[in-house]
Amino acid sequence: MSFSHLPLHKDLLRAVADLGFVKPTPIQEQAIPPVLEGRDVLGRAMTGSGKTAAFLLPILHRLHGKPRGTTRALVLTPTRERAAQIAADLHALARHTPLRGTAVYGGVGMGAQEKELRRGVDVVVATPGRLLDHFRHGYAALRGLEVLVLDEADRMLDVGFLPDIRRIMSHVPARRQTLLFSATLPPEIVALARDILRDPVSVQVGPVSTAPAAGVSHAAYPVRADLKSALLAELVKRGQIRSVIAFTRTKHRANRLADYLVRNGVAAGRIHGNRSQAQREQALAGLKRGAFPVLVATDIAARGIDVEALSHVVNFDVPNSPEDYVHRVGRTARAELTGDAFLFVSPEEEPQVTRIERAIGKRIPRVTLSGFDYQKAAERLEIPLGQRRHAHRVATAARRSARPAHRGTPRSGSFAPRGGRTARRPHGGR
Ligand code: AMP
Repeated sequence: MSFSHLPLHKDLLRAVADLGFVKPTPIQEQAIPPVLEGRDVLGRAMTGSGKTAAFLLPILHRLHGKPRGTTRALVLTPTRERAAQIAADLHALARHTPLRGTAVYGGVGMGAQEKELRRGVDVVVATPGRLLDHFRHGYAALRGLEVLVLDEADRMLDVGFLPDIRRIMSHVPARRQTLLFSATLPPEIVALARDILRDPVSVQVGPVSTAPAAGVSHAAYPVRADLKSALLAELVKRGQIRSVIAFTRTKHRANRLADYLVRNGVAAGRIHGNRSQAQREQALAGLKRGAFPVLVATDIAARGIDVEALSHVVNFDVPNSPEDYVHRVGRTARAELTGDAFLFVSPEEEPQVTRIERAIGKRIPRVTLSGFDYQKAAERLEIPLGQRRHAHRVATAARRSARPAHRGTPRSGSFAPRGGRTARRPHGGR
């Protein structure tokens, strides 16, 4: 499906094309039509799914051509960063229309925001606390409001905004269209939805489940970066993974992950660019014969090696490009097994996952491993660069003093002080 199948104003479709959006994301496909029909919507979707355009496009469509000077749409969101982001998205999507939006959040002066509210800017994107500050003055009465959006409702609940939201409700017209978006639906949000939505259409993308559904071949495990090794060890120990190739971003991380696993009782082989072809094949043979359950690899090392009969691929680090992801995951799919592809996603890697999801045209379900302590302190996989350099110097010095005199040191001796191969930051490493 392309955007042109959606009955959106041509000025909006132009902006969508300017942004390079080729086809609607699943949440956009599902949410835009009912919002255009004027229905209330309960959307279960995370930031990163394209939900901002999913509500902004139909709102802008609705307001386009109406008399200006009245604030007709209000978006409530938990943080000022998110408010600024939504306002920026709105600016981009409305660029071929006269419509305008403004962000209203705390930590900055009230004056400019007051001016916009008095002027009746078309769309207000606000954090609840600051909006209530404005409501103390008559100028902010949103009497002409037609659409209200609650964005990231579960996060607003987490940060204690629910009472503020209920107070805001008493300030806005009862006859309105309401859209509520939330990544999860805890009971408080369900109760809120029941109170403020009228006969809502429910739309969902990527249900957040606690276990991979049967037959699911892609699953993403959101996890802190420093807990990824522990999570992999746990999955293997529980028998959820029997034979796996785990891809890391750099050979340094591959080495450290393999060391971690071995130290924690999980046998692991490794292949990376520093290994000879014979060593790689040997490692792979070990995995296939079941000598160890985990083979840690970098992309480069794994290229050209035929990995069959693997039960799982773990993308320990999110690949930089969607192509790499498809390539890695292809290793189980090609063998026509019901191979699962797990993606370990740290919060910093979420944007890369969004790109992958767009490329593969579907949302990767989020999974949490029940009983795994996601809060625990963890061992760091990376040693800070300074410490690594120091260790390298010590090791080089030790090698030199142990080396027989006839082999000499000239090449490596001039190598180290320039910050040579081992001391250099592996590319892409942190
Ligand atoms: P959101 O979940 O709204 O924060 O969107 C996540 C990212 O996806 C943002 O950078 C959007 O600009 C981008 N995006 C939204 N819709 C699409 C689309 N249909 N095609 C490509 N990118 C999109």
